[in-house]
Amino acid sequence: MRNRIYLCLAHMSGKEMDYIKEAFDTNWVVPMGPNVNAFEEDLEKFVNSRLCDTPLDKKVVGLSSGTAAVHLALLACGVGPGDEVMVQTFTFCASSHPVTYLGATPVFVDSEPDSWNMDPDLLDEAIRDRIVRTGKTPKAIVPVALYGMPYQIDRIMEVAARYGIPVIEDAAEGLGSRYDGRVLGTTGEYGVLSFNGNKMITTSGGGALICQDEAAKKEILYYATQARESYPYYQHEHIGYNYRMSNICAGIGRGQMTVIDDHIAHHRHVQELYCSLLEGVDGVTMHRNPSDRYDSNFWLCAATLDKDLHVRGEEKAYSAVISGAVGGAAGVTHTARTAVTDCQPDNKVEALRVILDEANVEARPLWKPMHRQPVYRNVPAYVNGVSEDLFRRGICLPAGPYVSDDDVRYIVETIKSAIY
Ligand SMILES: *Cc1c(COP(=O)(O)O)cnc(C)c1O
Repeated sequence: MRNRIYLCLAHMSGKEMDYIKEAFDTNWVVPMGPNVNAFEEDLEKFVNSRLCDTPLDKKVVGLSSGTAAVHLALLACGVGPGDEVMVQTFTFCASSHPVTYLGATPVFVDSEPDSWNMDPDLLDEAIRDRIVRTGKTPKAIVPVALYGMPYQIDRIMEVAARYGIPVIEDAAEGLGSRYDGRVLGTTGEYGVLSFNGNKMITTSGGGALICQDEAAKKEILYYATQARESYPYYQHEHIGYNYRMSNICAGIGRGQMTVIDDHIAHHRHVQELYCSLLEGVDGVTMHRNPSDRYDSNFWLCAATLDKDLHVRGEEKAYSAVISGAVGGAAGVTHTARTAVTDCQPDNKVEALRVILDEANVEARPLWKPMHRQPVYRNVPAYVNGVSEDLFRRGICLPAGPYVSDDDVRYIVETIKSAIY
């Protein structure tokens, strides 16, 4: 039996333990320290590199998670109770949940079919409508680089400038992806990165916020460390959070930064291999860079199944309640009440997922759009059908550092033998 092929497993460079050992040897086993500073410098060098024009000078703050980074960016944009924030609906919940932590409401915006990310025209329309309906301008705009694919940041910035709204780029999945040669997360007011276990690089758990300058970085640091004032005792004038990155986690991050370029190159290589092996296979379409302005890291490789394709066993799909949550969620499972919901992938997508699972390949549906999540039943949404259609027809395939050429050939053969 083959070893199981996972979507995206963490892969160590071998240097991580050296940095962790250094943290222990120097007794920096706390949420700050030399590894945190050095990891932030590594990240700054990485995100500031441009393929054109003059270099950037963005600052980076290491945090305990990407979710924390979204939360603090929203806070710094002044989001508070009663406010609205425009969020891409086609995303993981960490893009929108922090809006609710602040007592504000996400307003969901659908995607355009090329990048699968926030549709700038629909965003414009939605903002105009919110201003008419509520008399208030939304406080922030959150586009998301789904599976690493860049959003149309130039057009989103144009719309944002028209209304004076800051943009928070959720590049949690898009570390190292570029649009017009510029690293994602460096164009908007803030850029979110994630180093969770399954992301492009890992610190076990962790995240970072890319800030415009040193002053913005200081403000984020203040809120990430319980908003302490400079007194010999604890004086609090604002509510803060315990969101700083641990010096141990940052040690892992420093090791990972030595292989980040290799990781990205490998993800791109795997994507190209899927594309060439699936060339000429009717009904299975890989998600690709829509033009040469886009340069995705292909964190996960996504495919869509055409309407008239069939998959063996599709008539039996969804016949039983699934017992484990997607992604394992750190072993936390919450038993499903029903085998089906009113918005789910087509039967053939589920049948293909099961066939791949039985062949020891982890595959998973695309993100379920937030405007179709029961928890967001009552929030406003501006939709065009794109994300829901992709959710019904799409599937994510393994792409991580451990996926070999032979694995990709095996996965493609498994897919070919499952369809008719
Ligand atoms: C992973 C992810 C996040 C949050 O990152 P964590 O580090 O897991 O908190 C935010 N947005 C998107 C789109 C993500 O995929």
